Amino acid sequence: MPPFDANTLMLVIAVFNGFMAFVWLAMGRLFRIAPQASLLLLAANLVSIPGLYCPSCSKLWPQALGPWMNELPLVISMALLALGVRKLMRLRFHFSTLGLLTAGAVLGSLLLSSLGQADAGLLVLSLCMSLLALTAFRDVLAGRVAEQPLLVTLLLCMPYALWALMMLGQALALSWLPQWREWFLREDLPSVPLAWTDLFIELCIGISLVGMVVARLIGRVKHMTLRDGLTDTLNRRALSAELRRLQAQVERGQSHCLVMIDVDHFKRINDQHGHACGDAALRHLVQVLRANMRALDQLGRMGGEEFCLLLPHTALADAQMVAERMAQALRSEPLLWQGQALTMTASFGVMPCLQDDPQGDKTLAMADDLLYRAKAQGRDRVCADAPELRAATL
Ligand code: GH3
Ligand code: MG
Ligand code: MG
Repeated sequence: MPPFDANTLMLVIAVFNGFMAFVWLAMGRLFRIAPQASLLLLAANLVSIPGLYCPSCSKLWPQALGPWMNELPLVISMALLALGVRKLMRLRFHFSTLGLLTAGAVLGSLLLSSLGQADAGLLVLSLCMSLLALTAFRDVLAGRVAEQPLLVTLLLCMPYALWALMMLGQALALSWLPQWREWFLREDLPSVPLAWTDLFIELCIGISLVGMVVARLIGRVKHMTLRDGLTDTLNRRALSAELRRLQAQVERGQSHCLVMIDVDHFKRINDQHGHACGDAALRHLVQVLRANMRALDQLGRMGGEEFCLLLPHTALADAQMVAERMAQALRSEPLLWQGQALTMTASFGVMPCLQDDPQGDKTLAMADDLLYRAKAQGRDRVCADAPELRAATL
């Protein structure tokens, strides 16, 4: 089988980029996933096609503009790609810096080409592409999610680093190291090794960007299935799973506590100030509770204005202190609503996790009893488990 020539390889890349343009179109327009980044990446792929396909039809351009016309779409495509990556990584968007850099390079290159300095023009464009690739490299690194393994981050960054190096090599070959030239260019065409590297990089970038978007989407769906939309605390399902995990540890001798929390007279807040104020009150409550929790404690919404706090590795006396501290904080930090300070209070039921209760149902029911005991005693208080209370309940 004859080896692929550069023309064929460029055509393969053009077809792949056309396919990727379609993928980004579907992603951004049809599924509304990262719509702005998708639009930029769609444009990046589309714009690159004439630059890739042109080597095989460069007779279309006037002779003097030939090389320049082939490179121009690739530079604009690279700038759009760098912007798309930036948007995808949710980093601050500086259109002007990248736009100015690209426009400056394009104009400089055009000027040099029109003065008969085609190589110098190409050199400027190569340096610009190298810088744009480095920008994308930095952004992929800066925008990585905290739990992302280092190896994955390196794999995601690698194609941009490779591209930056490749363009830097091309710039060097055009300026100081002419003996490298044949590694990069054969007349107007990229050399075969360069075209293969190009194909490899394009594949890596296309696949890794789509992979990144899908991974984020999965993360978002996971978050939505485990969290309460209004307060961003654990939802009931996630909380039950956490409780089951703690109960399994109780069987192995660990001591954990559970606190049930219910806002006092919450209905009045809704009735007097409206539902939006009620929602703000719930978010305020969560903010106050979180400020008094440790990182390993878990807060979940049971429903309405009732919350459950899991305190791993905590003795009953300590859990009671935590609840007292939270009650005090809530009393002293009113909700500010439309210029008014609304003081909120809550009642707390504190219960140690029981043995022989794998699902945590008994522990939850007893914490609920303690909570309603606190309500019955006048609200705005903490009621903790005690032997005499258990005797009265049994
Ligand atoms: P108590 O002191 O006995 O707990 O009285 P309460 O008024 O807090 O309790 P009640 O159960 O009578 O009222 C709870 C109210 O919470 C009723 C319901 O309309 C409201 N509620 C439930 N979920 C939400 C929500 O997501 N947002 C808002 N604003 N209100 C909610
Ligand atoms: Mg209530
Ligand atoms: Mg309630």
